[in-house]
Amino acid sequence: MASDHPSDVFAEGRPIVFRGGIVLPMDGTGPIEGGDVLVVRDRIADVGVGIAAPDGAVEIDASGGIVMPGMVDTHRHMWQTALRGYGADWTLTQYFVFYYLTWGKIFRPEDIHAGNVLSAIEALDAGVTTSLDWSHGLQTIGHGEAAVDALRSVPGRFVLAYGNLLGAPWEWSNSADFRNFVARLSTSDMFGFQMAFDVTADPAFPERAAFEAARDLGLRVTTHAGVWGATNNDSIRLMWEGGYMTPEVTYVHAATLADDSYQRIAATGGTVSVSTESEQSAGQGYPPTWALRKHGIPVSLSMDTSVWWSADLFSAMRATLSADRSREHHEAHAKGETVVHNYLRAEEVAHWATVGGARAIGMESVIGTLTPGKKADVVLIRNENSPAMSPIVHPYGTLVFQAGRGDVHTVLVDGKVVKHAHKLIGMDLAAAKAAVANTVDYARSTMGEQAWQEGMRPELPTPDSIPNPYTYSTFHGSDDRPTPRAADSVSGQEA
Ligand SMILES: [Zn+2]
Repeated sequence: MASDHPSDVFAEGRPIVFRGGIVLPMDGTGPIEGGDVLVVRDRIADVGVGIAAPDGAVEIDASGGIVMPGMVDTHRHMWQTALRGYGADWTLTQYFVFYYLTWGKIFRPEDIHAGNVLSAIEALDAGVTTSLDWSHGLQTIGHGEAAVDALRSVPGRFVLAYGNLLGAPWEWSNSADFRNFVARLSTSDMFGFQMAFDVTADPAFPERAAFEAARDLGLRVTTHAGVWGATNNDSIRLMWEGGYMTPEVTYVHAATLADDSYQRIAATGGTVSVSTESEQSAGQGYPPTWALRKHGIPVSLSMDTSVWWSADLFSAMRATLSADRSREHHEAHAKGETVVHNYLRAEEVAHWATVGGARAIGMESVIGTLTPGKKADVVLIRNENSPAMSPIVHPYGTLVFQAGRGDVHTVLVDGKVVKHAHKLIGMDLAAAKAAVANTVDYARSTMGEQAWQEGMRPELPTPDSIPNPYTYSTFHGSDDRPTPRAADSVSGQEA
């Protein structure tokens, strides 16, 4: 009974017990070897070794695997999944030109819907049970309704962070349309709502009115902060002076900031959403965990957008741990020193991907750890066919440096099985793919073939080359191999 349960086995609302896995509760305890996790209805009922399960419980064999809380992505522009991979070679400037200045306006409500549905399914498939949709393509309320419909159609936990990259936040957040939309919205722990906008450091601080709207509506705010060339220390200072830095704010990236800004974030209880792959490739600034740790700022992880990158938190964990250690080595070597301890460990990064995300969206009491009484968002990492999943001697190390989305065996959200034996349950992937194909066709034909191609492959100037004193003088030997030779250092010697 350990594998290949038909989905109707789970549809009866029977209790579920994971047996014999390595349990990582992410609450400061564990790992629990040979551990069990019992789920009754929508809750985690028990965690331990050899726990009793009610009669009729469905048993899932977790041996050779890792049982952990569902992961939480705190910043993903889900609508952009409709053009997955299109911007692989973009800089941040090229991203801004494409969406903010040129083509963002062509995306219809149905395109927002298509991107969101595929992104939501992708998240669940990869063990990300909660995603914050940083939804800044909502140029009309109709787009907002499409985003809501999409997220509600997929059995995951979502937070819609409402934004509009084509509008001024102090205007849309105070419009009657937006206020009516918010008034109509029903939220729950399955569907949360926030506001998403950036602070450009205009000394007049027009964003004040948007913060007032958020306060008025009792909404959390998520904002791209410390983004090279876009938002900076003055943005943070204006928020501070206005009294808008609170524990209800998430600072996304927070990469290009001075100590003074980090101190203000730390002092006001804010959290930072780190998108390492994004910061490394787009150039918001060096992924900041090495600085955040020193300021004691809570970290969560995010993937930002699939227009460039993958959307799984395995990639995020791996990139984040490597970037942090890379910076430590780089700083030490500049002083002629050697790093002899890695202060950031795999375990802490795994916490950032789970309970760190729950904390960042204000849901730490509901999700983020395998704690009896919390909602049952549970992931089993297990892949009998993968050589990389054996042996598991350092479970956090396996999770961060070895595992990938293909190793996600079973996923529960709110006690419901949405993936089992590597197969999604209750989601129409074929329909989601067809809808996204429709958006691709529409965008391509609307832009025209030339703009479509040029947008994907931005023109490159000729790069500067660095002069090299070493030259290859060819064919000195009898065997036709080039002979390396440096004019100054080895002249006159046989190479
Ligand atoms: Zn972003």
